[in-house]
Amino acid sequence: MPVYWRTLRNLVRHTTVFTNACTLLTIRPVHFPPASCTFDQLATQGTELNDTQVVLHGYIGTRRDASKSLTFAELHDMTLGATVQLVSTPTNGVDGSDSPHVTLRELQEHSPVAINGTIKARKAPSGSNRETRAGLITSVEVKVDNITPLNAFPSGIIMSKETVFPPEQRHLQIRNDPAVRNALAFRSKAARIVRNELCEKHNFTEIETPLLFKSTPEGAREFLVPTRAPGMAYALPQSPQQYKQILMASGIPRYMQIAKCFRDEDLRADRQPEFTQVDLEMSFASAEDVMRTVEAVVKRLWTELLGATDLPEAFPRMSYEEAMSRYGSDKPDLRLGSEIQRIEYMIPVDLVKKIGPLNDPIVEVMKFSIADDANETRNFVNTFMDSPEAQPFIQNPHGQPGIFIFDTRKPLQGLQVFGFEAAEALEDMLALEDGDLVVIQARPNTPFAGGSTPIGNLRLALHKAAVKHNYIQPPQGFAFTWINDFPLFSPSSDAEPGQGGAAGLAATHHPFTSPKTAADVDLLLSDPLSVRADHYDLVVNGVELGGGSRRIHSAEMQELIMREVLQMSDERVKDFAHLLEVLRAGCPPHAGLALGFDRLVAVMMGRESVRDVIAFPKSGRGEDMLVKSPTRMTGGQLETYHLRLRE
Ligand code: ASP
Repeated sequence: MPVYWRTLRNLVRHTTVFTNACTLLTIRPVHFPPASCTFDQLATQGTELNDTQVVLHGYIGTRRDASKSLTFAELHDMTLGATVQLVSTPTNGVDGSDSPHVTLRELQEHSPVAINGTIKARKAPSGSNRETRAGLITSVEVKVDNITPLNAFPSGIIMSKETVFPPEQRHLQIRNDPAVRNALAFRSKAARIVRNELCEKHNFTEIETPLLFKSTPEGAREFLVPTRAPGMAYALPQSPQQYKQILMASGIPRYMQIAKCFRDEDLRADRQPEFTQVDLEMSFASAEDVMRTVEAVVKRLWTELLGATDLPEAFPRMSYEEAMSRYGSDKPDLRLGSEIQRIEYMIPVDLVKKIGPLNDPIVEVMKFSIADDANETRNFVNTFMDSPEAQPFIQNPHGQPGIFIFDTRKPLQGLQVFGFEAAEALEDMLALEDGDLVVIQARPNTPFAGGSTPIGNLRLALHKAAVKHNYIQPPQGFAFTWINDFPLFSPSSDAEPGQGGAAGLAATHHPFTSPKTAADVDLLLSDPLSVRADHYDLVVNGVELGGGSRRIHSAEMQELIMREVLQMSDERVKDFAHLLEVLRAGCPPHAGLALGFDRLVAVMMGRESVRDVIAFPKSGRGEDMLVKSPTRMTGGQLETYHLRLRE
């Protein structure tokens, strides 16, 4: 007996916590017979394998002791996707404790085992009204000759099909929930397709960029990694943006990476502090080249993984301005209809005054076809308005939404407040029918900023509620669109760190995006908020899959934007000295994009949250509940990194 094995036995013998049975099952030899046959072979070759001796690896499933001398048990393969029936009888009438028959009867369900057995043709389960489980091999079964238990599954853990384990037991949830394992497999396939399309078809080179980067005001809040050199820290990259631009200046024509990114951001909006991007960059390329390449990747993914056949040759495009005015969102779900239109010019002045406190507002309208019967629509509206989802709209400081129901039994079809003329015009403009919901909302008469307007949010909330209460069908399919012509700068907000400049502006995406045209360059100093960016977002079904831009490749332009437009301090501009240096070294024009890979997989799989497609997602508070991170730094660690906690 090897020494370590004896030591373990002694250790266990002297540990009162363990029972003998538990000891036997817990301390397992390191060696076990290799598998000689896959479940796939069992399923495909079936009775051809009759009387063959095999070794199978897997997990013990449910067991049925038919009599003292006959036991049936399921053996699940290591993917937990295929199952074969084990049959066991006492070996040569021996019933000692080493007998495989006894071992099988003692084994806890879910325990991993190696089974030596003989393949036998399986009689069709006659008269059985038990449901055949998915993946069950029905042509053969395995007569158990020997069992090597490889570990024990704790008897205190109940794991049935319905069990949902908390995040602290993520390993059990993954093991018990095929949906999670499917998502991980799907994700792996998607990554392969992306690499294949980009590297094999489009000549991209996959390059890993450093994770220990430096702190720069690119836009998002970073995670710092202190070092043992006093006061020195790396920062984890919020994206490989700067390195990929450096690669463009390094003579790498096309770069791609499935990259980990880190942002210390508000996690409420289904975001993760670490996430994965399909990151790419192309030299001597325009926005057009990038969009076409990304369309090829996306179409390949949708075709190969979802069997899509109806994707357009090129995805439609829409400006930010148009998306915000037609859908009240910079990531519109084009499947929902209910487009927004302006009506302040056609409704009575009195009404405009009544709908909110704003002076000279823009008033917008949208229509929803909820039910044919106005009373039903009324019920829906009441339910919605009483729900917590309605609260933000009711509390809108620019006025509550005005909600009307088109009802042919009522004077002016329920649109009296609009007056005869406007009611008629609205009826025409919206092609109103009985039971339609008409919603109006005021907003300030200022340029669009940010990602959505209240009426845009209301459009989504009403649609979601109507689906939830079965008034309308959930939208189907995938509607892609590019959104471009974003403003290059936005007023800086406290929520986003931006670039820390003194101009009250921040780059809408990041400070490396190029102005779109020469006319935009001309506006940089005089009217920066109206400069359009050569930026493009890819949106599908109301979800932003990713975004990118043509970059500034002239050091002078980059410096002008940092110093003169954003008014960053010398010190902050110096954080980007490496980039300016690189651009100065004959950097070619370049453009790129990153797709949020977690979100892309979630959308493709129709999952609500990115957490459903990540093996070990962090909680809403940024914690990994299984390993319990982050942890409090010990005194020793603080000392190593020359850190002291403020009292
Ligand atoms: N680095 C950008 C981001 O992470 C994507 C890009 O512009 O390529 O959003």
